[in-house]
Parts: sequence; C-alpha cells; structure tokens
Amino acid sequence: MSERQNGPLLQVRDLKVYYHVEAGAVKAVDGASFNLRSGKKMGLVGESGSGKSTMALAMMRMIKEPGRIEGGQMILDGIDLVSLSEEQMRQTRLRRLAMIPQGAMNSLNPVMRIDRQLVDGMIDHGITFSRDERDDRIEALLRSVDLDPKVAKMYPHELSGGMKQRVTVAMSIALEPDLVIADEPTSALDVVIQRRVMETINRIQDELGLAVILIGHDMGLMAQSVSRLAVMYAGKMMEVGDTVDMFREPLHPYTQLLIESLPVLDNKGVFSGIPGITPSLLNPPPGCVFHTRCPKAWDLCREEIPEFAEVAPRRWVACHLHTAS
Ligand code: ATP
Ligand code: SF4
Repeated sequence: MSERQNGPLLQVRDLKVYYHVEAGAVKAVDGASFNLRSGKKMGLVGESGSGKSTMALAMMRMIKEPGRIEGGQMILDGIDLVSLSEEQMRQTRLRRLAMIPQGAMNSLNPVMRIDRQLVDGMIDHGITFSRDERDDRIEALLRSVDLDPKVAKMYPHELSGGMKQRVTVAMSIALEPDLVIADEPTSALDVVIQRRVMETINRIQDELGLAVILIGHDMGLMAQSVSRLAVMYAGKMMEVGDTVDMFREPLHPYTQLLIESLPVLDNKGVFSGIPGITPSLLNPPPGCVFHTRCPKAWDLCREEIPEFAEVAPRRWVACHLHTAS
C-alpha cells in the first residue's frame, strides 16, 4: 500500500473518453479533472448518462470499442495509467486500484463457488498459496466484509443481494489496493441493506486506509457517506469540493438544483427532479453545456465554455458566475 500522505493519490487531468458511433463521437467524458487524496472517499454524482461509469471504466483502462481514451492523464501515485501497456495495466488492476462495477453482484459466476471466485483474481496476479493459506485468506476476506466463512462453499444463488454485494466488495480488496471505485454499489438493494453494506465499506476503508470513489446519482446518500464530492454533467466536471461546503453553499447552479431537488419533509419526500433534459453528447450545446437548463444563464454562457477553476482552496467550479471577470 502507498505510504503517500501528502499530495493527491490520484490526479485526473483533462480526461477525454469518446465513443465513436456511426453518427459521430459521443463525448461521454470531455475534459474532466479532479484530485483524490489517499484514504479519502469521494462521491462522483450526476444524472444518468453524465459519464460517471465511463469515467470509472477509463480509470481501470477497461473502455471497450467503440470507446477510446482520447486524451488526458490519470496519475495514480506518480504513474500515469493512460501511458501503461496492457500488461502493466493488468498488473496494476486489483493490486493498486480495483472496481466494483455496476451490477457486479448479478455478474458473479452462477456455477462457481464463492471461494473460487475470490481466489481467481489473486491467482491471475501470480499469487500462489498452499491449500491452508488459501482457505485462511478466503476466511479472512469473508470476515472482513461481515460474511460467515461458510459462504466460501456456497453458490451465488444461495446468497441474498446484500451478501452477494459483500462478496464483490471482498473481491475488490483481495489484493489490498490503494483505491477502490464502486459504481452504484448499493442501488439494487433495499434501504436498510444499503446502509449496512455502506457501513461495511466505510469500516474497511478505515482499516485498510483505502481511497474510495463512490459513484451514484443520489446526493442525499452521498452527503452521508463521502467527504468530497465531484458533480458531473454531460461529460464535464461542474463542481468539486468538500461535501459540507458544497451542501452549505453550492456554487454551481447545477449543484444547487441537485440539492434543492432532494426529497425533504416540505415536499413530502418526493424527488422533484431538474426541469429540462440532458443534452446530446454527440452534439453538445456551445458554451456552457448546462446553459439549456440553467436558470442563471446569460449571453456569455451560450458562447464561451467556462473554465474549470479553483475558486477557493480545493474548491473547483466551471461556471462564468464565478470565473468571468
Ligand atoms: P448511469 O448513471 O445511467 O449509469 P453514467 O453517468 O454512468 O450513467 P455513462 O454510462 O458513462 O453515464 O454514459 C455516458 C454517455 O456515453 C451516455 O450518453 C451513453 O449513452 C454513452 N455510452 C456509454 N457506453 C457507450 C457505448 N458503448 N457506445 C456508445 N455510447 C455509449
Ligand atoms: Fe449557468 Fe452560465 Fe454558470 Fe453555465 S456558466 S452554469 S449557464 S450561469
């Protein structure tokens, strides 16, 4: 594990990921930047289609055709993941960074016992163990995610949703990486189970000193779980900052709307949503991508792309309201 305490563990700089379809390039991630310190938890939020999963897959270098990383850097502990060969990247996955993909709990192999599924990743990385070491390691991993070691001999269909999701968490930490990216890890679970799985993730994060990127669209859930927030819209980063500051004083109109539309007692717990539709990523609007829905837009917003600027220490925003001179 990295001993790095100062400076960011991960620096994503101007990352661009496009899907090349017949009609043109879908700019799923279009110049996104953020930093993450080691041992910290950051939420990546935005509406469906804003590019969150693409960002996660890009960080794992698992973008498939017709997608391509078009530019930018993803520097993990001094190493630019974009520049690694396929083989170097294969060695890096799981050891340095791991992902719990969206829907992972439903992608467990139905005909393979859990113990095999847990060790396969480790064996792939050239780790060899005696039978006893293997069993001990599996038991420790299962216990670390609050599962009974008996689960080792079970098949996925014998487990509840929450248990399956715990197995995927165990898989991601098998080689004690520095960073885990969890794409909507609890969205398929009911609220009580969601909370329990999140508690387990939080505990493991503390114990292992893990940095975590939690992807989701629920700002409310994020507010309870992460210390930093990154808000994405139409492939671009809109605002990044400490969660408390962003809730206290959201700077970007999109962040403001996301927070205002959260269910509260006043509106009987109903999520009101944000008026308007997300723009086409094949042909994004000129200027600020949010101008078609922004209640504060003016002429400049329709013409010029706002710079993503650090407007206060470790507080970044892409909006002319805060950066235009
Ligand atoms: P969700 O919350 O629904 O998972 P997301 O924010 O994770 O959404 P992505 O799944 O990254 O968003 O999608 C970003 C954009 O890229 C969308 O417009 C989507 O249609 C497009 N996209 C994703 N995968 C492909 C693909 N294989 N080919 C073409 N376009 C794609
Ligand atoms: Fe709204 Fe303009 Fe700011 Fe974009 S740049 S969020 S359109 S005020």
